[in-house]
Amino acid sequence: MIFITGGAGFIGSNFILDWLNQSDEPVLNLDKLTYAGNLENLASLQKDPRHVFVKGDLGDSSLVESLLAQYQPRAILHFAAESHVDRSIHGPEAFIQTNIVGTFRLLEVVRAYWGGLPEPEKSAFRFLHVSTDEVYGTLTKEDAPFAETNAYQPNSPYSASKAASDHLVRAWYHTYGLPVLTTNCSNNYGPYHFPEKLIPLMIVNALAGKPLPVYGDGMQIRDWLYVKDHCSAIRRVLEAGCLGETYNIGGWNEKPNLEIVHTVCALLDELRPCADGSSYKKQITFVQDRPGHDRRYAIDARKIERELGWKPAETFETGIRKTVQWYLDNPMWLENVQSGAYREWVLKQYEGG
Ligand code: NAD
Repeated sequence: MIFITGGAGFIGSNFILDWLNQSDEPVLNLDKLTYAGNLENLASLQKDPRHVFVKGDLGDSSLVESLLAQYQPRAILHFAAESHVDRSIHGPEAFIQTNIVGTFRLLEVVRAYWGGLPEPEKSAFRFLHVSTDEVYGTLTKEDAPFAETNAYQPNSPYSASKAASDHLVRAWYHTYGLPVLTTNCSNNYGPYHFPEKLIPLMIVNALAGKPLPVYGDGMQIRDWLYVKDHCSAIRRVLEAGCLGETYNIGGWNEKPNLEIVHTVCALLDELRPCADGSSYKKQITFVQDRPGHDRRYAIDARKIERELGWKPAETFETGIRKTVQWYLDNPMWLENVQSGAYREWVLKQYEGG
C-alpha cells in the first residue's frame, strides 16, 4: 500500500486515479478536506476497495501514527499543502501550520514508523515530498531556467512555507537517514483544478460571461505542465529516484499569462462559440498586479530526463485542448465546486449524512 496526503486535491486526486488505473496496489488517502479538497474528484473510486479515504489533518500525529501501524505502507507521497499564493498573501497562518508544522509532524511520525520496520521493508521504504518551482524565486528573461542547484529564494508566504518544508525533508535525510525524495514541479493544469487558479478561472468566467481578470500587464511567465505528466514523473521518481536527491519537473513550456488566456479564449471560441459570434477575448480585463508577483519561472528538467528517462506525454497544445474540453464536458463538477455543493456530496457519499 502507498499512503498519500492531500489526495482529494487537484494533483493528489489525479495521481490516485492514474495510480489505480495502472496498478492494483491500494492507496490510503489522508486529507483534511479544506476548501481545496474535493472527494467528488474520486467519485469513480467510491466503492473501490483499493482506495481507503480518511478525513484528517496530517499534523494530527496520533491519527497518522495509528494509520501507519494499521496499513503498513511502503511509501508516503506527501501532496497535502495550502497551495494558493493569493490566499497566502491574505492569510499566511494556515500555510505555516500545514506546510511547515504539518510537514514536520508528519516527518517525525514517519521517522518513528520507518525506524521500526524490519528489513527488507526498511530499505525499500520511501518518503516522497511533492514541492514547487516557486521555492527558487523569480527569473529575469535572460536567466537560465531553474536547476536543482539553484539557491532557494522564495518570495511569497506560500513559496517560503514550501521552501521550509523542503529543507525539513532534506534535513531528515541527512540527520536521521530517512529515505526521502523531493520533486519541484512547475505550474500544473488539467482536470479537477479548483477554479481559483488561472486556467480554470478563465474557463469558468468566460463561460459565465464574466470579466477575465489578468494581473498587471499579463506578461508574467510560467512554465506549464499537464497534471498527468506531473503524476507520471512522480511515479518515476518513486520507483527509481536516488535517495536524498531532488528532481525538477517541467515540460519546457514557458508562456506569458496573457498568451495562456488568449489560448483558452481561442479554444472556447472553437469548441463553444459565443452566440453573437464574438470572441471570449472581449472579456479580458487587466487588474492591479499581485504584490511581490514573481516575473518568470522556468524549469530545467534535464536531470529527471537524463537520469530517470522521464519525458512528458503532452505538449502544451494537446494538454490545454484536453483541459478545456474536460471543463466543457463536466459542467456539474464545476457547478458543485462553485456553489460549495461538493461538501454536501461528501457528507452524503462518504459519511452517510
Ligand atoms: P490543492 O490545494 O488542490 O490540494 C491540497 C490538498 O491538501 C487538498 O485536498 C486539501 O484538503 C489537503 N490539505 C490541506 N491541508 C491539509 C492538512 N493539514 N492535512 C491534510 N490534508 C490537507 O493543491 P495541489 O495543486 O493539488 O498541490 C498539491 C501539492 O503539489 C502541493 O504540495 C503543492 O505545493 C505542490 N505543487 C503544486 C503545483 C500546482 O501547479 N498546483 C505545482 C507544483 C507543486
